Amino acid sequence: MTLRLHDTLTRSLVEVEPLEAGHLRLYTCGPTVWNRVHIGNFRTFIFEDVLRRWLDHHFEKVTHVMNLTDVDDRILRNAKEHGVSLEEETAQWIAAFFEDRDTLGLRPAHHYPRATEYIGPMVELIERLQDAGAAYDSDGSVYFRISAFPGYGRLSGFSASSLVAGASGRVDADSYDKEDARDFALWKAVGPDDIGWDTKLGRGHPGWHIECSAMSMTLLGESLDIHCGGVDNIFPHHENEIAQSEAATRQPFVRVWCHSEHLRILGEKMAKSLNNFMTVPEVMAGGARPSAVRYMLAASTHYRKPLNYSDEPLAAATEAVDRLAAFRDRVNELRAADGGGADEDVLTAIRHARNGFDEAMDDDLNLPEAMGAVFASLRDINRALDANAVSAEAQRALRALLDEVDDVLGVFPLVDRERGGDLSEEERGLLGARQEARNAKDWAQADSIREQLARRGIAVEDTAEGQRWRRA
Ligand code: AMP
Ligand code: ZN
Repeated sequence: MTLRLHDTLTRSLVEVEPLEAGHLRLYTCGPTVWNRVHIGNFRTFIFEDVLRRWLDHHFEKVTHVMNLTDVDDRILRNAKEHGVSLEEETAQWIAAFFEDRDTLGLRPAHHYPRATEYIGPMVELIERLQDAGAAYDSDGSVYFRISAFPGYGRLSGFSASSLVAGASGRVDADSYDKEDARDFALWKAVGPDDIGWDTKLGRGHPGWHIECSAMSMTLLGESLDIHCGGVDNIFPHHENEIAQSEAATRQPFVRVWCHSEHLRILGEKMAKSLNNFMTVPEVMAGGARPSAVRYMLAASTHYRKPLNYSDEPLAAATEAVDRLAAFRDRVNELRAADGGGADEDVLTAIRHARNGFDEAMDDDLNLPEAMGAVFASLRDINRALDANAVSAEAQRALRALLDEVDDVLGVFPLVDRERGGDLSEEERGLLGARQEARNAKDWAQADSIREQLARRGIAVEDTAEGQRWRRA
């Protein structure tokens, strides 16, 4: 089985084959930690998480690096305004990012390098570019000379001559003197009172793009296998990363470039700058369950298509998670019988599910289609189970299928947590007592316990699968 991914650079499906046999090196652009990341950012991070999980499934060893951009103009501005160090300014947002990552069940990367810890490698890389004639100084700042890199524009499809500064919010439109308006800053000079680093390049701070080139090449080598981000990263960020890295090393920087489409809201990209964003805690406060948010972002729409956030896909995702969880409960509660009259039908349906799932995942990570194959088989399996018993072997095969699917989907640990994993003992006791009251049809007692839980900030709902609670 070969995994094929859409490569932004060649605009085609390419086979994923690690440069180093058995070891795949993955770099994903992480958050700029100037405030709390939003669920739009998490659409990209969850796409990358699904990719990471499927790579773990395919290859012996995967090294995943996600950087934290902890120095940029907005962070510097905020730190100055608050009169604190960069580290103090970003600590709360880094902690919040990890909290949200865990709420949505992302598999942690192997490294989370912070830009501020890689100033040395950035300065070295800039010096290499100066030596190669691809960078020049101006007023203490250092710029990349786009005319020195003929391949500029290949990733985004913009020809170098058509580019003008300011074409994207993140094109460097500084007023510093540049040879060419398209050139971008590698190093920005600052005054003695500003936050900065005293280096061989003078006092200043790095530009955004050089951060990712330096961190990825330091941790993963000069040529790496897969580099990801949201589509807004294609230009100028990744275009500039290629130019800086390849002008310095003369090696191909990345084998496959993957970009996920945006999460939108009311038809517009969700973005801090448009003030139309929602954070993970805000979405949870609205009553959404982490498992459903994860499912919606990961599996409701292929990653290369825009997804519109609204109640509708969230409700559909909630239903999908409930169906999966109910099926898992059914499998766990099955009483295996000798003979297993349903075995043949069940094993055939498992085979269909697995083939359909693997094929769709290998075809550019099509998780929505993969889940379609799983749900179609679950219907067949449910029908077979309604009619007949299964053997212990078939039951094990069903569990294995669910484990394999959830190894990528990642919702069951969230469902378990939502069902009570992180309640205090006392709270769990109350839920248990309420269940007993319901079993005994003592509705008054059940209602009274519901009120006790509500006073503790826990909302309880009764569903076909039993009580479901969440923190209000
Ligand atoms: P930033 O913190 O702005 O550097 O963004 C972190 C990641 O989130 C990048 O990969 C962006 O491409 C991605 N991103 C930003 N906004 C959205 C959105 N609305 N939908 C999907 N991905 C996004
Ligand atoms: Zn980056």
